[in-house]
Amino acid sequence: MSTEKPKTDAEWRAELSPEQYRILREQGTERAFTGQYWNHHETGEYHCAACGAPLFSSAAKYDSGSGWPSFYEPLNDDAVAERSDSSHGMVRTEALCRRCGSHLGHVFPDGPAPTGLRYCINSASLAFKKKQD
Ligand code: FE
Repeated sequence: MSTEKPKTDAEWRAELSPEQYRILREQGTERAFTGQYWNHHETGEYHCAACGAPLFSSAAKYDSGSGWPSFYEPLNDDAVAERSDSSHGMVRTEALCRRCGSHLGHVFPDGPAPTGLRYCINSASLAFKKKQD
């Protein structure tokens, strides 16, 4: 359980770009094949663009062909929260940053082994940190 004080809407608006605010705080979606990470292949971690929490490893990233960065699992069990989303006439599973509650994307049951899951995530919700070695 985070002890950080939740940010106000005004604080999020001040900190995030308009596109990030629309996606992270208003459950928006970037257009496929337009984000900075769908075709990104460096080794490292993808963090929450809103709060910096580590969310996904490049080791679990794969090319889903969807035009959004796709992962078969989160970095660990504490990283990503899920909830049912019935907007836009579909029942989907929404993926959120567990630390700050920001919208990341959706989870679909058509991913590869070992999980069979596809975490379909907006590039705008992510900030890549390259592995230092
Ligand atoms: Fe976050």
